[in-house]
Amino acid sequence: MSDILTMDSVPSVEAIASVLETRLKNIVPAFELRGQAEIAHEIHVLKRELNAVILGHNYMEPALYLSVPDYTGDSLELSRVSAETDADVIVFCGVQFMAETAKILNPEKTVLIPSDKAGCSLAAGISAEDVRALKQRFPGLPVVTYVNTYADVKAESDYCCTSGNADKILDHLLHEGHRQIIFLPDEYLGRNAARDLEIPFVDPSNHAEGEALPETCIVGWTARCEVHEQFNVEDIQNVRKQFPDVTILAHPECSPEVIDAVDISGSTKQMIDYVEKSSNNQLLLLTECSMGDNIAAEFPEKEILRLCTVRCPHMNQITLADTRDSLKQMKHQVELDASIIDRARKPIDRMLAIR
Ligand code: 13P
Ligand code: SF4
Repeated sequence: MSDILTMDSVPSVEAIASVLETRLKNIVPAFELRGQAEIAHEIHVLKRELNAVILGHNYMEPALYLSVPDYTGDSLELSRVSAETDADVIVFCGVQFMAETAKILNPEKTVLIPSDKAGCSLAAGISAEDVRALKQRFPGLPVVTYVNTYADVKAESDYCCTSGNADKILDHLLHEGHRQIIFLPDEYLGRNAARDLEIPFVDPSNHAEGEALPETCIVGWTARCEVHEQFNVEDIQNVRKQFPDVTILAHPECSPEVIDAVDISGSTKQMIDYVEKSSNNQLLLLTECSMGDNIAAEFPEKEILRLCTVRCPHMNQITLADTRDSLKQMKHQVELDASIIDRARKPIDRMLAIR
């Protein structure tokens, strides 16, 4: 937890600035931090007035990440927190599908997202109509949907999963006797999970209509994360040439070839946990750039190498100023149809019940 959050009263501008300057020395230019600290102070005042909780995804930019969230984490952790909060207002510093998940778990609460432009290429890569068509084509197969999807897609699904528990959810279904499972929409997460489980991955666009499926398989989809699909094996080989002792971590939204070439694969939280415990002090993270900065700030004793051309344009929409304005003006409120909430809740609850 950020040092600022352990303070009992509303932290002063000076206290916030001092934490940011210490933690972000060599990461963010000092002249930017004073203004950020002033906005963060305003957010703390508003948060108390409104009994709001702020959830911050690990990809938030460093000054925001360190100064205002009550909880930071990956999609799974933040879903668990939002299922248990007693705050009246939830501000989700993350992208739209994450804020929707919080709303599905808290239909009676006000859920705010600081920007209405924070999408996701995976969530945009599949529609509810696509899922209905797949279910018609492969009747009776359970549908596991990555949380990086919109609520109407979740409403068509049996289970949700995150990058932190995809293998576990699929394993649970295999143990229940389901041999063929639809897994949507991330092609690479699906292919990586299928490989871990040693079962074939079927791309429905390359599967002839009416042809039998393998006895055990994952029927996937072909959406990709526009950030993680950019990493390639050549970059990894170049880094290893220059830094032969480096430990390389990658998010499972990267291609199977990239996952093969790295040392560790895991959700954003699993990567943070690994860095914390690792005896190797030189590490490279193949994921969104801000997380490299956040980890460097959290573990100053480690050398965190960067391939930092890759910033998620959607996560990047969320700023401290927008977070303050979101609390001041109670915008942008997540609104979902009651029937969608009802149907989308089941796969999320089923996921959360599997520990
Ligand atoms: P995590 O659940 O691992 O934090 O991933 C979310 C995400 O959007 C990765 O690109
Ligand atoms: Fe979506 Fe990729 Fe951005 Fe994550 S990093 S929010 S998966 S586009």
